[in-house]
Amino acid sequence: MSINQQIKPVTTEENENLRIGGCDLTELAKRYGTPLYVIDEATLRGICREYKQAFQDYKNIKMMYACKALCTSAIIKILDEEGFGFDTVSAGEFYTVYKSGVDMSKVLFNGSNKSAGEIELALEYNIGRFSVDNFYEAELLNRIAAQKGLTADILLRITPGIECHTHNYIQTGQTDSKFGFDLSTIDEIINLIKNRYTNLNLKGLHAHIGSQIFEPKCYYDEVQILIKEISRINEHYGLSLKEMNIGGGLGVKYTEADTPPSVETLAKAVTDAMQEISLDIPTIYIEPGRSIISTAGITLYTAGSSKVIPNGKKYVALDGGMADNPRPAMYQAEYTAQVANKLKSKEFEIVTLAGRYCESGDILINDIKLPKIEAGDLICVYNTGAYNYSMASNYNRVEKPAMVLVNNSQSDIIVYRETLDNLIMYDVIPDRLKK
Ligand SMILES: *Cc1c(COP(=O)(O)O)cnc(C)c1O
Repeated sequence: MSINQQIKPVTTEENENLRIGGCDLTELAKRYGTPLYVIDEATLRGICREYKQAFQDYKNIKMMYACKALCTSAIIKILDEEGFGFDTVSAGEFYTVYKSGVDMSKVLFNGSNKSAGEIELALEYNIGRFSVDNFYEAELLNRIAAQKGLTADILLRITPGIECHTHNYIQTGQTDSKFGFDLSTIDEIINLIKNRYTNLNLKGLHAHIGSQIFEPKCYYDEVQILIKEISRINEHYGLSLKEMNIGGGLGVKYTEADTPPSVETLAKAVTDAMQEISLDIPTIYIEPGRSIISTAGITLYTAGSSKVIPNGKKYVALDGGMADNPRPAMYQAEYTAQVANKLKSKEFEIVTLAGRYCESGDILINDIKLPKIEAGDLICVYNTGAYNYSMASNYNRVEKPAMVLVNNSQSDIIVYRETLDNLIMYDVIPDRLKK
């Protein structure tokens, strides 16, 4: 079983108290407070190795971690050690990567509305590839590169006419998407690059077909479309594009109902599609985000107040919620949880885990069967490594939680908990109000 097919981190031990990375979660809560993001290093490194193993027969594969899933300096450091490059979507992300000491030729800058300032900085850092998303940006990037006397190596982000999310697979001639060039506009942009944008060096095509994907066939079809398009372009324009970026999207297991394919199955879909069309291919980039970091992360909360409404439904309020994990409120995402200090309990009840924030929609998990919870109990929510901290906010003016990295019974802070002073540090009271 691949790590992305498991709900819990690989080092999870369920004895008296729940342990991850050899660390007792009740000890972590005492030492660092809650809510607390915990990242298990063995799980993170394990899935990186699964990706490398699965694609080992294909020499020209380049693994790029999609930073938007979770971008902190220590996480970048680990992925760099594992040989990954980085897919970034903002100056903040590629600055974090740069400051972590990564060779910037391994970094791609992607996004549908990059600012001129971000483009300038990316050129100064000699970023490896720009994924050019639209006509406006092609012109802008070419202009800024020309001013600096530089050439930007680019991929063109295309919309291949496939959209895939979990069990929902749509193939349309003309995809309604805010990202990329649809197939009907590719010739126009290639002509512009060939004839006018002389500071852009076209290396290949880029696509990303969705997220939380359970269907290997999506990748098979995507790769075939990309190869066909690259061959057509090479033939028609006398070019020799040799790079194809297939994006990320592999799903993970949040609850027992989720059935993502293994990394190996994904690799097989990609390589099968490659073999069917014989072409001297190119470098393939793959950009997983969620499947790299989701399973490695858990969030630890402390239970507080609880309430039973007249129909018998019981709410238990946690000390976190939609500001540290917006996914349930945003798209009804589902999670699995355990009471970290009550693994041996035999008395169960159905409860709804509510967040502390002032929105009725701030519910982390609806109707979950857990041991009877009392105030002070510790709730471990699994699979919160991806798109939790990276989407976190300070809603209700609450400090963002700390993050610790656990490994071999050791725990290290990798993101400090925000302080009350952090919350007001960018506030300014204009002089005229200071009377
Ligand atoms: C978001 C994104 C990814 C990563 O997607 P996951 O579902 O987290 O694997 C990769 N590539 C691009 C272009 C993206 O926008």
